[in-house]
Amino acid sequence: MSNEQSTEVKTPVYLDYQATTPMDPRVLEEMLPYFTEKFGNAASRNHQYGWVAEQAVETARERVAKAIGASPKEIVFTSGATESDNIALKGAVEMYRSRGKHLITVETEHKAVLDVCKYLERSGQAEVTYLKPHRNGLVDLEQLEAAIREDTIMVAIMAANNEIGVVQPLAEIGKLCHSKGVLFFTDAAQAVGKIPLDVEAMQIDVMAISGHKMYGPKGIGALYVRRRKPRVRLAPVLHGGGHERGMRSGTLPVPMIVGLGKAAELGVQEMEQEAKRLTEIRERFWKGLNEKLDHIQLNGHPTQRLPGNLNVSFEYVEGEGLMMAMKDLAVSSGSACTSASLEPSYVLKSLGLGDDLAHTSIRFGFGRFTTDAEVDYALAKVIEAVSKLRDMSPLYEMVKEGIDLSTIEWTVH
Ligand SMILES: *Cc1c(COP(=O)(O)O)cnc(C)c1O
Repeated sequence: MSNEQSTEVKTPVYLDYQATTPMDPRVLEEMLPYFTEKFGNAASRNHQYGWVAEQAVETARERVAKAIGASPKEIVFTSGATESDNIALKGAVEMYRSRGKHLITVETEHKAVLDVCKYLERSGQAEVTYLKPHRNGLVDLEQLEAAIREDTIMVAIMAANNEIGVVQPLAEIGKLCHSKGVLFFTDAAQAVGKIPLDVEAMQIDVMAISGHKMYGPKGIGALYVRRRKPRVRLAPVLHGGGHERGMRSGTLPVPMIVGLGKAAELGVQEMEQEAKRLTEIRERFWKGLNEKLDHIQLNGHPTQRLPGNLNVSFEYVEGEGLMMAMKDLAVSSGSACTSASLEPSYVLKSLGLGDDLAHTSIRFGFGRFTTDAEVDYALAKVIEAVSKLRDMSPLYEMVKEGIDLSTIEWTVH
């Protein structure tokens, strides 16, 4: 299935697996009956239709729980990681008000965490410390420890970054948080089914999960909420009906939940093999680029990163021109990451990259259905595009002639 060799490559080649993933056909197959013949409301206690739906939901809950080493009762279904992030942060701030209102997070978190933090600050509900990561994207544990205060209630640090793929030292963070009596929340949208996760070994208290980043459907996700040592309590964001132990009201979208469960199960079953294959692809791609191009930079830690993520800055090319020249590749650029704005990526800027390097960065996301032929095609395209743009670049010409650009006095005539 995934290793299929073909010389025919369908364009644009999809290399944006951190933005979303195609659904695995096995997930779709499992979901389909729950749209039609098994359409019951999982909350209907009085008849067969309801019981069938409820059973499917509980099977999915077990599968999601198993994927992260949790127990099924600790899984709450939501509409996605954005909602889970909202419940985690707003729910904790409301519930633990008497303990304090300090949160700690990192500048490179997803907007679904940062924007909630901003909102909580603006409305006076929380005080937030934003940690600056190392140049390689990793959190500084000493800096984290120093930031923890008497009134700190929660630390929010993502498992794997959606732009640069960096995987944080979760077990160390969890250990530190628990030694200080602070809750550890991790947004694991990019990590579930991709890298091993264990909420016990890593001492994670709350976790956000998304379906469509792991070959499941869009519009479904989950929140893991620890039940013991410590028992975490989160105030709900949505009220009405008391579904999901009161933490998330609303009729359960049974087909989507079934899909999330299947996606989680497949992710765990195929993780080892898939991680190995994607790591090989990533390394082959990086090596291929380096064989033909100089002055390129890898963004994020070289090995502590998602198997299928490569984020590269190409010096001495113009960012927009680069994207234009790569129309046959569906990739994400460091200048387009923040919605439609041309602002360079805040993640890359936080690592200390200048605007120029951030603007010429490209995120290559490989995944389950990426073929070797697609990788070869993409590699050739990138090399061709960058070489062509550099042939037109006076700056690159000077660099090749050995001129140190920092010594030049630029004058405007
Ligand atoms: C995609 C993503 C989200 C948002 O998830 P949705 O399910 O689309 O709401 C949050 N955090 C990270 C790290 C993501 O990659």
